[in-house]
Amino acid sequence: MSAIIEVSGVSKSFGGVKANTDISMSVEKGGITGLIGPNGSGKTTLFNSIVGFHPIDSGSITFEGKEISRMLVPEIARLGLLRTFQQTRIYGAMNCVENMLISLPHRKLSIWDAFRKNSAEDRERAERLLEFVGLYQKRFLQASSLSFGQQKLLEFAMALMNEPTVLLLDEPTAGINPTLINGLIDRLKLANTEFGITLFIIEHNMRVIMNMADTIYCLAHGQMLASGKPEDIQDDQRVIDAYLGAH
Ligand code: ADP
Ligand code: MG
Repeated sequence: MSAIIEVSGVSKSFGGVKANTDISMSVEKGGITGLIGPNGSGKTTLFNSIVGFHPIDSGSITFEGKEISRMLVPEIARLGLLRTFQQTRIYGAMNCVENMLISLPHRKLSIWDAFRKNSAEDRERAERLLEFVGLYQKRFLQASSLSFGQQKLLEFAMALMNEPTVLLLDEPTAGINPTLINGLIDRLKLANTEFGITLFIIEHNMRVIMNMADTIYCLAHGQMLASGKPEDIQDDQRVIDAYLGAH
């Protein structure tokens, strides 16, 4: 395997807060990489830097060998690097299929074009992906009527609609009930194995990330504390201390 995302010496501060300091890490093509760390350790900041949500102070970020650290979100999304959010971003007043179609503006000109120009093909793909995440029966229901967990599944399907090469997921299982968590884990793994999507996942639930990731990075106080295979990370005293120290 080779690195599809390479982060080298990245730092990012907000005023006096050093959210990320000299972070280096890589995401292997075709794999599932995990990012853990206590609250406030800089995980979301790293995601935001990678997808172009804010400029970094120093360092380099490459995607498929190309420097992306000065690019903006839409430009990076068009390259095939997408993210989901800790808090879902769906349109509650629209039904699931409409949300799926609206998630395509990366390829379209505006929201209205997305409605006008969406082809039968797009609709069919939207419905197939909703089926993939288990929301087919609910496809014509308002997104606001879905449970939080189902909304996360919808958001995941919306990301798949854009055919990402790499998908960054920020705490996908947070706030979801255990039954849905298992379903979501299965879907994520299938997206990886069947669709070949490289996954980079921030996850608070150790059981979940240990079960999914082939490599795990652990942040603490904005710095890279440890990295390795799940079984090594699990037994790493620095990681254990960082988590225990945070609670
Ligand atoms: P995590 O996702 O690991 O919980 P974050 O990356 O969200 O951590 O936050 C890391 C640190 O950076 C925290 O101290 C947080 O308050 C700060 N931070 C994050 N984003 C911003 C922002 N937009 N403005 C100011 N401070 C921020
Ligand atoms: Mg976060």
